[in-house]
Amino acid sequence: MAYSYEAPVSQSLFDRASAVTPGGVNSPVRAFRAVGGTPRFMVSGTGPYLTDADGREYVDLVCSWGPMILGHSHPEVIAAVQEAVSRGTSFGTPGEGEVALAEEIVARIEPVEQVRLVSSGTEATMSAIRLARGFTGRAKVVKFAGCYHGHVDALLAAAGSGVATFGLPDTPGVTGATAGDTVVLPYNDLDAVRAAFAAHPGEIACVITEASPGNMGVVPPADGFNAGLKELCAANGALYISDEVMTGFRTSKAGWYGVDGVRPDLMTFGKVMGGGFPAAAFGGRGDVMAHLAPAGPVYQAGTLSGNPVATAAGLAQLRLLDDAAYAKIDAVSAELRSLVGDALTKEGVAHTVSAASNMFSVFFTDRPVRDYDDARKQDVFRFTAFFHSMLEQGVYLPPSAFESWFVSTAHDERAIERIAAALPAAARAASEATA
Ligand code: PLP
Repeated sequence: MAYSYEAPVSQSLFDRASAVTPGGVNSPVRAFRAVGGTPRFMVSGTGPYLTDADGREYVDLVCSWGPMILGHSHPEVIAAVQEAVSRGTSFGTPGEGEVALAEEIVARIEPVEQVRLVSSGTEATMSAIRLARGFTGRAKVVKFAGCYHGHVDALLAAAGSGVATFGLPDTPGVTGATAGDTVVLPYNDLDAVRAAFAAHPGEIACVITEASPGNMGVVPPADGFNAGLKELCAANGALYISDEVMTGFRTSKAGWYGVDGVRPDLMTFGKVMGGGFPAAAFGGRGDVMAHLAPAGPVYQAGTLSGNPVATAAGLAQLRLLDDAAYAKIDAVSAELRSLVGDALTKEGVAHTVSAASNMFSVFFTDRPVRDYDDARKQDVFRFTAFFHSMLEQGVYLPPSAFESWFVSTAHDERAIERIAAALPAAARAASEATA
């Protein structure tokens, strides 16, 4: 596919980056390999807008893959960061900011009795799984195809996000022994979970699931699926781990737990709670968390865990996320979903706008999408054409058909109007695209 628009400064930065960094990026999906073209190097962000190195402005529907729920450079978050930085950037000792952030998480999410702060979602899920194994004395982990839990060795099997985008079946470097303890099941299939417990009696430490998946595109849990997982775990002595790295503090004040009320044993968080800085967490039942060092024997640590600047940013962001903020985000999401759906319908493009609270994505198929196999059956080439048309018109979508779109409280009428103005041509490009 040829692109009629150019980004010469981004291109030259990408050339420099490619000389010193594998694939030119520090996280694979950023490289545009799934859609082609030159990844945009961004230099600044304000509210719902990003500006690239060529001086072009985009309405941002990626929001840093979730964290920027108040938009970019929110003045109160920036002020909190500046105040924290002015006192120093890392002490390697406990500090009040991390206590306040932990208290905010515990206050919002009732099943979290104790929480440990880490620096990335990957660390959170890795540590939660280690803790589940240490607590139960069992080895096996059940995960679902299309769910992404970060690049933890044991969780990369049939993962979503970049692994889905690039169609990687498994990744070299993960040993057979590690992969052998992971049981991968189709999403939304409780019978498969029942069968796994029957096949591995007394061996399964935990079932980990995205609370509502957003890494194969948005595929919400079927009614009763999460509750069924919880029941099966409880009946079989395994822990139910709900990964809320993406949904946490986004899909409601209490994340997806606030939507479905199913009480996990352990939960993982990241993205929104860091306010654009590296902060993440895992937490849950007090008796399970008590097994974590130094209270208990399961080791876990981090030089920058609970970093004062990151916790200040996260806390400032969470404190601004009140009921009115969620109402705004929900309304923006609903408006965009209907605009996108209408534009594609008008051009006769088969599609499904799939939503879970205010997270949504568009599948280029009109068949129902309940799991990863369904998601993969969409016309990805139509997404590619749609993506480039939107980019050319100044709207930045996730550069993959297998990712959630994210909105913020900063997406105002002007930003929505710009998206609305871009949609007819993008829908036409999707309709005219050929495989
Ligand atoms: N879990 C989920 C559900 C995610 O969406 C992600 C990242 O996208 C992760 C875990 C990993 O988080 P991080 O990229 O901060 O390591």
